Amino acid sequence: MHTHSTYSDGVLTPAELVRRAASRGVSLLALTDHDETGGLAEAARAASEADIVLVPGVEISASWNGQTIHIIGLDIDANATLLADGLTSIRHSRGERATRIAAQLDAVGVAGSLAGAARHAGNSAAIGRGHFARFLVEHKYVRNMSDAFSKYLGTGRSGYVPPSWPDLARAVDWIHGTAGLAVLAHPDRYRLSPRMMQALFEAFAQNGGDAIEISSDGRFKESAQTRLARQFGFALSSGSDFHAPGKNVADLGDVTEIPAGIPAVWQRLRATR
Ligand code: AMP
Ligand code: MN
Ligand code: MN
Ligand code: MN
Repeated sequence: MHTHSTYSDGVLTPAELVRRAASRGVSLLALTDHDETGGLAEAARAASEADIVLVPGVEISASWNGQTIHIIGLDIDANATLLADGLTSIRHSRGERATRIAAQLDAVGVAGSLAGAARHAGNSAAIGRGHFARFLVEHKYVRNMSDAFSKYLGTGRSGYVPPSWPDLARAVDWIHGTAGLAVLAHPDRYRLSPRMMQALFEAFAQNGGDAIEISSDGRFKESAQTRLARQFGFALSSGSDFHAPGKNVADLGDVTEIPAGIPAVWQRLRATR
């Protein structure tokens, strides 16, 4: 329920992604590029040839309480005006942010990063920090993606530019405006205190959020987040957040199973209803 292609910061084209998923036994796959739905048509064509059901999705960058969160839309209609216009405006601000990131990197001696990042972006209209990170690795400023964020691109680092995303309520409204399902992506990655995690879940519930994504690093286990999900009546979702094949990262189909008896978001998708 969570993957990326070259239309955002993944390295496989939508068709390659679908074929890899099929070869790994995936039967139901959501493509959820960051703030971008341009890959969905190609993915749907490949899915119909590969015996996979493709769920049209998107991962929207949003802000809540001054920090970035990601809201996944599943079963969206990419042609709906409200959503399409919203995503266009996010990509516009991504473009402006990229220019500023490059200027800041330039000031600390990293030259040529805008063109360099753009070469890693299949879709230069959706340029993001993942593309800058690949450029920094490629030119040996850092050893790996994770170092690119801890040394240059993460909050407070020399290449960090505060983003201007829509707030949580708008992102959820855009998804619901197309009759899609809104999933709070990877809450375990937001480094929130228990109190703030509760506040985020509360805000997501107040805005009509549908499901919470659990981490995909193994067998299902109860956590503060699954307890909160139950308390607020959210379904659970699970996905690899696949960007590229590699060591130490989840591959397509490496997802934590959700036990029977707990509502899973895929039970609510059009394709499975
Ligand atoms: P952006 O939406 O342009 O701010 O970039 C966020 C993306 O960067 C995420 O979706 C991840 O793909 C990637 N990312 C963020 N933090 C890290 C990290 N510590 N290591 C590797 N990739 C990261
Ligand atoms: Mn990404
Ligand atoms: Mn994300
Ligand atoms: Mn993602």
